[in-house]
Amino acid sequence: MPTFEQLKEVMRENGIVGAGGAGFPSYAKLDQSVDTIILNCAECEPLLRLHRQLLETKALEILRALDVIAKTIGVKNVYIALKKAYKDAIRAVEAELDSFENIKLATLDEVYPAGDEVILIYEVTGRVVNPGALPLSVGVNVFNVETIYNVYKALNGEAVTEKYVTVTGEVKNPQTFIVPVGTKLSKLVEMAGGKTVNDAEYIMGGPMMGPLGSVEDYVTKTSNAIIVLPSDHYVVMKKKANSNIGIKRAMASCSQCHYCTDLCPRHMLGHPIQPHMFMRVVSNHDTRDVQPYMDAMFCSSCGLCEMYSCHQGLSPKSLIADFKATMRKNGVGVPRGIEAKPVVANREMKRVPIERLTSRMGLEPYDVSAPISDVKIKPDSVRIMMSQHVGVPATPVVKVGDKVCVGQVVGRVPDDKLGTHVHASINGTVTDVTDRYIIIKA
Ligand code: SF4
Ligand code: SF4
Repeated sequence: MPTFEQLKEVMRENGIVGAGGAGFPSYAKLDQSVDTIILNCAECEPLLRLHRQLLETKALEILRALDVIAKTIGVKNVYIALKKAYKDAIRAVEAELDSFENIKLATLDEVYPAGDEVILIYEVTGRVVNPGALPLSVGVNVFNVETIYNVYKALNGEAVTEKYVTVTGEVKNPQTFIVPVGTKLSKLVEMAGGKTVNDAEYIMGGPMMGPLGSVEDYVTKTSNAIIVLPSDHYVVMKKKANSNIGIKRAMASCSQCHYCTDLCPRHMLGHPIQPHMFMRVVSNHDTRDVQPYMDAMFCSSCGLCEMYSCHQGLSPKSLIADFKATMRKNGVGVPRGIEAKPVVANREMKRVPIERLTSRMGLEPYDVSAPISDVKIKPDSVRIMMSQHVGVPATPVVKVGDKVCVGQVVGRVPDDKLGTHVHASINGTVTDVTDRYIIIKA
């Protein structure tokens, strides 16, 4: 068993970051003060299936890595959090559980956003993370499924050079590919049979939280899905909405019905966020009471209020996100030291079923399986970004003309800075080096 410091070193050297979301370096998350680890396989956004597929095929490897982490940091409560409906993944995990005395299954209801760390921790342990606080504050480490699979590979000497990416929506053959980091996204759409609509838009990640993006970009360690949709689809139109118009629409038609707040997952856990109050003050340019603005800083951007709750089709989440970005730009962070109020009564009954959410968003026609493909994508070249993680970007340590091989470090982060190294994902020759990326030709 590695020591705590050895495990951190293995994770850092092999470039392991959270394989979804912002890409927080995983070694920096490890903490010996926690008493619980949760493997997050809630995968609550409509159309996403990657994590359960990975558990179905790599359960033993993932449980082994989780066991090493738990034993190294001295944790006895380890939960694999899976939705009740993920029957194949549950079967795969149950088949291996006997060999791991501290690992248990925690089954979750089919609701959104069960995968939000704060919600997940409450559903699994009953503990409420205070507004703006980290899971560590309640003694919990939460890890993504693919991240832990990457830990398994790192413990066996392999750095992060590949990524699982699901391509679904308006493509001929929705599939999940294992691709070298740095592959052009358009290559993946092509491998999925190409788009089936002329005027397509691409969502990078889940339909609730993923932004619109371009397939001219490249796979990073945090890419997990490309959802192809017609440009006039409800979800695309929502994501394209203009905030100035959004405020005018709120001024004209927010009825203050309170539904957005009643169904807000963070509000239901006792966090102060009240989107209806934010809509009231922001649409009236009312600054007499700043509390609704400060409370809005606790929004998780789950998107439920604008994709599901608001019967007027308004956009609380987007307006709040703009407001938070402005606050950040001006150096104002999330308020600290706030205590959560008691969890609201009847919370269980107010949670939003994933099926209803999928239907409300017009995504039912795309709710199909996207199996892991056997086809290995071999790009002619890759563009490896130097910043694929939270923290300091890596600095290139290769030059044009160098021959590199898979797994070789091509960008380093100083030992005393937050971040992880980046590695060559194909064998080849370096053809371009900038502060932002390096290009390797196969
Ligand atoms: S649900 Fe819509 S209409 Fe109702 S308070 Fe919220 S933003 Fe206003
Ligand atoms: S996006 Fe809306 S529903 Fe989600 S946390 Fe923010 S205010 Fe609440």
